[in-house]
Amino acid sequence: MTGLDLRRWLGCAVDTVEAWEAEFGPFAAHPSHQLGEAEFGAAFADLGKRLRDNYPFFHPRYIGQMVKPPHPAAVVGYVTAMQLNPNNHAREGGPATADLEREVMEALAAMFGLERHLGHLTTSGTMGNLEALFVAREIHPDRDIAYSADSHFTHARMCHVLGVRGHAVRADARGRMDMEALESLLRTGRVGTVVVTAGTTGTGAVDPVHEALALARRYGARVHVDAAYGGFHVLLAEEGLFDPRPWRAIAACDSVVVDPHKHGLQPYGCGAVLFADPAVARHFLHDSPYTYFTPSDLHLGEISLECSRAGAAAAALWLTLRLLPATREGLGRVLLPGVLAAREWAGMLEASPYLSLYQPPELDIVTYFPTEATLGGVDAASARVLTDGMAGPDPVYVSALRVEAPAFTARHPALAADAPGARILRSVLIKPETGDHLWHLHHRLEELAAGRTSR
Ligand SMILES: *Cc1c(COP(=O)(O)O)cnc(C)c1O
Repeated sequence: MTGLDLRRWLGCAVDTVEAWEAEFGPFAAHPSHQLGEAEFGAAFADLGKRLRDNYPFFHPRYIGQMVKPPHPAAVVGYVTAMQLNPNNHAREGGPATADLEREVMEALAAMFGLERHLGHLTTSGTMGNLEALFVAREIHPDRDIAYSADSHFTHARMCHVLGVRGHAVRADARGRMDMEALESLLRTGRVGTVVVTAGTTGTGAVDPVHEALALARRYGARVHVDAAYGGFHVLLAEEGLFDPRPWRAIAACDSVVVDPHKHGLQPYGCGAVLFADPAVARHFLHDSPYTYFTPSDLHLGEISLECSRAGAAAAALWLTLRLLPATREGLGRVLLPGVLAAREWAGMLEASPYLSLYQPPELDIVTYFPTEATLGGVDAASARVLTDGMAGPDPVYVSALRVEAPAFTARHPALAADAPGARILRSVLIKPETGDHLWHLHHRLEELAAGRTSR
């Protein structure tokens, strides 16, 4: 599918490592972990069977959550480095992958337009956000943290972990942080850091980063951008597809998180956090008795909360970015079809008698619901489409999003709010191939919404 012969390159991954290992001289492996081919083959066959219990993330039929398999370049990069098992906690955990990590961080900083930066990979967006909020607390120990009511649920959780008071700021009728509500909160002087989201997990809404930044600066607050999902869309900011101002403003914020394991074609275990001011390193300084020969300049392990981290993740991202760089012509070309498909589908949903568009998509996440008269009806029909969709010979996999009644009626005032909230349907068009299958997916979902389940 990608023009790469994965079998061949996985063989090369083994050859490359064996050739290097051979330079150190032969030795006999301990019998305790020696295995017979037949014994291994039987266990491996069982694993293959077990893994069949899965959703087809790779297939155009799957338009559920923000997940797809990694690019083969990432797989080969990961497997090659993983055989050496470098640990990017410290430079002596593997100098090569530590250097690769510095290079990919340069590339991510350049993507956001950060002139200076301090940053590193993390195992996830949540860990990256935790670090950003930790620094927020260290800088303003007596002040609170504000985030949008539609931000990722882990911000409230991490504030709790850090012992910081968090404020959920009201979202507007497009799922963006409400600037009036933010300003009245900032006016109290209690907030030290504002978390804005560039691409919410639920709807892909982009908070007005530029406006939040101006407000925060006026009231002496810092700004962290959670771009875990949407970050790579900055590559399309000048395309005329969406408002470029929030994306341009990221360069002037204090920190940003992006997840290469979402739109960066990587396997799980690859988030990233960047700070605009390298001096925040002072908040991480710790003296580990186990890292002996630390060079005088900071290594990556000295600026992170996590200890062990897969060096293989850096190798995978580095190899991927060598081939598909974080530029408009590289990853931008991979992301663009999803954004265009979301808009095309939105048009089809608006014209449908069976399905309705929940709100216009900003990035590549589409939210919609079976056309019903009441919130309760929407909830029941959404649940039915979700489960019936996965059954039968022509399956389609979507996801559900729970929305509160006020948010729903702000967008669709004619609908009777007979329940506190409802599940609606949500599709993440994270694969560039989805656009080629829209017509089929849309009509299948229309059939399901109309109650015609099989065909
Ligand atoms: C996915 C996501 C997170 C959490 O990242 P993980 O890598 O799943 O830990 C945080 N914020 C946003 C906006 C996300 O989309």
